[in-house]
Amino acid sequence: MAADVIDGKSFASRIRESVACYVAELVSSIGVTPGLAVVLVGDDPASQVYVRSKGQQTVAAGMNSFEHRLPATTSQNELLGLIEQLNADASVHGILVQLPLPKGIDESAVINAISPAKDVDGFHISNAGMLSTGQKAMVPCTPLGCLMMLRQRYGDLSGLNAVVIGRSNIVGKPMAQLLLRESCTVTVAHSRTTNLQQLLSDADIVVAAVGKPLFVSGDWLKPGATVIDVGINRIESAEGGTRLVGDVDFDSASAKAGAITPVPGGVGPMTIACLLANTVTACYRAHSLPEPLELSV
Ligand code: NAD
Repeated sequence: MAADVIDGKSFASRIRESVACYVAELVSSIGVTPGLAVVLVGDDPASQVYVRSKGQQTVAAGMNSFEHRLPATTSQNELLGLIEQLNADASVHGILVQLPLPKGIDESAVINAISPAKDVDGFHISNAGMLSTGQKAMVPCTPLGCLMMLRQRYGDLSGLNAVVIGRSNIVGKPMAQLLLRESCTVTVAHSRTTNLQQLLSDADIVVAAVGKPLFVSGDWLKPGATVIDVGINRIESAEGGTRLVGDVDFDSASAKAGAITPVPGGVGPMTIACLLANTVTACYRAHSLPEPLELSV
């Protein structure tokens, strides 16, 4: 039996519709339009594409988008000055600094200068701490999107065995914390793990965030497992040119799994949708209003 393919594209479009409804409600009830400020330093081509796409989707949802494009020569102090200004600006509810930053700028210092309440990427140390201690946090967008897809598939995740492959601060660790909060039994595998295949053979849920193309083979999976593929890797295509693939070998995995996210069209679209959702959540919280439950976890 071929696995169900989890359609991240249509899920993300439902989230964006919901975001747009809540934005309209905020405008009509309290006259406030949520605003997202995106800061891009330097001219990294991939970052420019991401920032443009984030800006377009923010505006399409009815929110204000404030783009700050700074030259690669910007100093850390200049950047911190801008963050301070955005922290104090009541029309800005979310602040995102596009990573990576140019060499010479300390990313942690910049991220931790963002007001935690406006940290819609969820990377601030306070948000990481609040997530891991079970308090209300801003949750990083990619793991948030993965959890929404898992909740839709299972409803209650409690007692399921989950293996997260990867321990980065932006995906692996927060994903593991979210699954723990859902009462899964969570194992985090990483580059020094010696028994990955054995771990996967008993995993009901696999979240792969490794950054290695087609790394996870279908043979390693427990039959019926749900596979969330976070990886985005560009490889040479057999037909010439290049193509995007995930960290999971989709063809073999979809023959064994119960459900799987494709690449592209799985986790990727959910990430930007969750950024918009976090901005709306931040706006509700800033105005001490009960936040929309479907936009956060
Ligand atoms: P990272 O490089 O920071 O982390 C990779 C992790 O993989 C590390 O923790 C490492 O320990 C682990 N790893 C490496 N080799 C391993 C092995 N042999 N066995 C087990 N674990 C191993 O990467 P990241 O930022 O977490 O991103 C991971 C992937 O997800 C990348 O492909 C990235 O492009 C993608 N990504 C996608 C989205 C999205 O929106 N879809 C968002 C963020 C990242």
